[in-house]
Amino acid sequence: MPQVKLIDRPTPLHDCPRLAQAVGVKHFLIKRDDLTGLAFGGNKSRKFEFAFADAWAQGCDVVITGAAAQSNHARQAAAAAAKLGLKCYLVNRHDHRSRQGIQGNLLLDYILGAEVRLADGVDPGQAKERLAEELRAKGHKPYIIGHHAAVLGAVAYVGCALEMHEQLTDRNLQADVLALASGSGTQAGIALGAKTLNVGAQVLGFSPSLGDENARRRGIAQLANEAAEVLKLDTRLSPDEIRNTHAYVGQSYGIVTPAGLDAIELLARTEGILFDPVYTAKAMSGVVDMIRRGVIAKDATVVFVHTGGNPALFAYQTELVEHGNYTQRIVTDQVQAIA
Ligand SMILES: *Cc1c(COP(=O)(O)O)cnc(C)c1O
Repeated sequence: MPQVKLIDRPTPLHDCPRLAQAVGVKHFLIKRDDLTGLAFGGNKSRKFEFAFADAWAQGCDVVITGAAAQSNHARQAAAAAAKLGLKCYLVNRHDHRSRQGIQGNLLLDYILGAEVRLADGVDPGQAKERLAEELRAKGHKPYIIGHHAAVLGAVAYVGCALEMHEQLTDRNLQADVLALASGSGTQAGIALGAKTLNVGAQVLGFSPSLGDENARRRGIAQLANEAAEVLKLDTRLSPDEIRNTHAYVGQSYGIVTPAGLDAIELLARTEGILFDPVYTAKAMSGVVDMIRRGVIAKDATVVFVHTGGNPALFAYQTELVEHGNYTQRIVTDQVQAIA
């Protein structure tokens, strides 16, 4: 399939023995798709290798996308566009995070040269369409990252499933659980890959947002099946084969949970690996809870797919500092350094 090169592959599969011991499970491994290599990495860069090839094949010179103000998708689109010499327009939501200023992913969007717009009181989808019209009138050929790109994203994650399968086989390991933060294409691709390869692992998706869980399972199965058609695979998935929960979202998308913030410190302090507060940390809090409740067996081999998102840490400085009770201990000659 047409593909542009954006990432370094295979991404590492790290063994995490101190984390495994801390959470009480036999093997814990992390597939480091936060290390895809482009502008702080993440799962979107792997997906964009196909979506940007599609834009390229259509002769587009401008890419339009956008999501939340702290969107990892938007930041990686801006980076991919920069690398390929395309202009990137982002129509992000003017939400609680952007009202706090230009930080985290949003800051990176500007540094990467994207034209950033913040939709306030207008539908971002319509704003993107209007922008595309204006650009066409000026003689440009815009590519809006939409449903077809999402299908190609699932295709990319079939590739990731294959990569993990090879890495695990090389180490004589078999995954019992493949866990990840996902509400759509990433899980669709991994579930399709796992079923096609017949690896027998449970794929557990943790949605970053609340919503109709049945509709989400149907959406994931449909993306998987559309990806299967693109890849000419016979495998098909039905919604009841998809396991995805929003039980660990808390109040809503983008609002931290105490268990998620605990997970950030746990990963950092056992393995020196950073998780983000919006996606991976909440998913990890779910994995920890499921191990504790025996839903994931103690003798299991768990592979967690790290989908990236770390730049958001800086946009959540207030919550992190408060939760961890981080204080600045100033050393003067009146105060001892160890106290
Ligand atoms: C976008 C994103 C996800 C979700 O990916 P989908 O394929 O849309 O389900 C998960 N984790 C991080 C860090 C993300 O940025």
